[in-house]
Amino acid sequence: MTGFNTQVVHGQAINDNQTGAINVPIYNSSTYQYRSLQASVRWDYARSGNPTREFLEKQIAQLEQGACGFAFSSGMAAIHAVLAIFKPGDHLIVGDQIYGGTYRLMNQYFKKRAISFTAVDPRDLTAIKAAIQPNTKAIYFEPISNPLLRVTSVKQVSQLARQAGLLTIVDNTFLTPYLQKPLMLGADIVVHSATKYLSGHSDVIAGLVVTKTAELGKKIYFIQNALGGVLSPQDASLVRRGIQTLALRLDRQMENVAALIKFLQPLPQIACLHYPGLPNSEDYQVAVAECHGFGGVFSFELAPNVDAAEFVNHLQLFKLAVSLGAVESLAELPYEMSHAELPVAERLAAGITPQLIRLAVGIEEAADLKADLKQALVAAIND
Ligand code: PLP
Repeated sequence: MTGFNTQVVHGQAINDNQTGAINVPIYNSSTYQYRSLQASVRWDYARSGNPTREFLEKQIAQLEQGACGFAFSSGMAAIHAVLAIFKPGDHLIVGDQIYGGTYRLMNQYFKKRAISFTAVDPRDLTAIKAAIQPNTKAIYFEPISNPLLRVTSVKQVSQLARQAGLLTIVDNTFLTPYLQKPLMLGADIVVHSATKYLSGHSDVIAGLVVTKTAELGKKIYFIQNALGGVLSPQDASLVRRGIQTLALRLDRQMENVAALIKFLQPLPQIACLHYPGLPNSEDYQVAVAECHGFGGVFSFELAPNVDAAEFVNHLQLFKLAVSLGAVESLAELPYEMSHAELPVAERLAAGITPQLIRLAVGIEEAADLKADLKQALVAAIND
């Protein structure tokens, strides 16, 4: 097996004998000619299969070390496809700190279709066991939670799930196969918002699914073709290109995170920092055991004398925006932005306070990012 950077560049052979193209071409054709009625055709209609999309699907399956990959028009379409393999009457156990859009899909869409969900802290194996019902079919969680970056052991949860005959489904958006391979730790299905680190440039909305087995792959393929939420060839090409620099970008983003944490940690304006790479973080041991790095996102709580709104409004290099995983640094106030839909009591119970700031760190110069944070902190101090 070659190293990760070699795999992302050379992993999939390009099969374009006509031109010798180094990169897979963007095949725009929606339909394909049958040479004769009797001829067997590799491609017939682009919803069912497209060479550019298939390249990306094989690329992600190889990186996650799964049997089959599938590309969708958004992360939510990918998650929808995975949840669509369950039937009315099925029950799923769900991590209590999952992406809000996934929570909404489960509770406002699938619940109406008679699939039930129980939310638990996935780090609490006793709570998971207690939530198992006769009709439970799967456990779904994010190994690194957002915005507090709590880490769940994929190994322990999938072991418990396997013993109970449940599937383990992991949203690997934050870590990517560069930092963690959930299927190698025991999970059955991995989903991605490829909008984030995999594409890496804030210029595409995309989702991916990888299954450990061909049997699960058949189920996802049926849904992909039947529901039709496929990724366009242009966007598949953008994600393919992004993946080639995934490790370079993440290495740089993690270097910048380390530099920014070192700068912020001693400041009196910072009440506390959340990042699994901090040795005093409660999940440090699990993170070290199961991750090859801790990712490009961290969060911190501003001291009471710093006005959080003033702080984010004064940032210049850090753009005030939701999303993450791209070359540019982004900042957001989860209480007012990404998690604003949650009732106040739930937000506070989850540790999402009005003083919490989440940074998704990009690849800029660390010194410039530090200077930006510094000037915004100075401007936001209440006298
Ligand atoms: N999963 C996670 C962890 C996310 O952060 C997001 C979006 O922010 C999604 C899924 C949904 O992906 P998309 O926005 O590509 O539909």
